Amino acid sequence: MYSYLKENIESVKAHIQSACVKAGRSVDAVALLGVTKTYEADVMNAAIEYGITDIAENKVQEILRKYDDVNKGVNWHLIGHLQSNKVKYIIDKVELIHSVDSLKLAVEIDKRAGQIHKIQDVLIQINIQDEASKFGILPSELGALLEGMSTLKHIRICGLMYIAPIVEKSEQLRDDFRLMKKMFDDLNNTPYSNVEPLHLSMGMSSDYEVAIEEGATMVRIGTKIFGKRTYQTK
Ligand SMILES: *Cc1c(COP(=O)(O)O)cnc(C)c1O
Repeated sequence: MYSYLKENIESVKAHIQSACVKAGRSVDAVALLGVTKTYEADVMNAAIEYGITDIAENKVQEILRKYDDVNKGVNWHLIGHLQSNKVKYIIDKVELIHSVDSLKLAVEIDKRAGQIHKIQDVLIQINIQDEASKFGILPSELGALLEGMSTLKHIRICGLMYIAPIVEKSEQLRDDFRLMKKMFDDLNNTPYSNVEPLHLSMGMSSDYEVAIEEGATMVRIGTKIFGKRTYQTK
């Protein structure tokens, strides 16, 4: 019933591999995240059977709705905007929060992680072009946010996340990806003990190959694995 998922996952993995080869990078330097928003647990579990180890959702509510029905052992990622008042619902469920974009949110994550004796891995979301439609901070705001977060003991800042704009050709995004890679590498020069640059989360169905060529370590793929999404209005 879900054999198309197997084909799609294998195809995406093959493309990841060739992008890595092209860029002279090791294939295991890039993690594949299956973006499962709008898809239900049965589809997710099939994808897990076919080798997806990490799933990503953009809404807290969707994680809560599906969490109990999805096979255990898979890593959950939150990739969408997170409101401070919802941190408490997911703090015990997610491996990595990709979308930290304010000190207020970081402080809340730190507090809730502390309560369950967890160190929460997070990424900081960057909005290079200051697009109003997207969350994230400007590159120029990163230094101050890192400094503000430097005293938080229950957070580990593991890198950066970027959502590229929709363009005609993914090649047009290469400069943005390159800038992200530079900012990511520069994290190595920060003096803060809770910064450990491990993950550069960038690249989606339409642009992941260019993102990998420029240094992505995590790609977030929805459409190319699960197909086009239909959004229901409730
Ligand atoms: C939906 C989504 C994706 C996946 O997008 P596709 O183009 O379907 O691969 C990746 N990242 C974020 C933050 C998303 O919301």
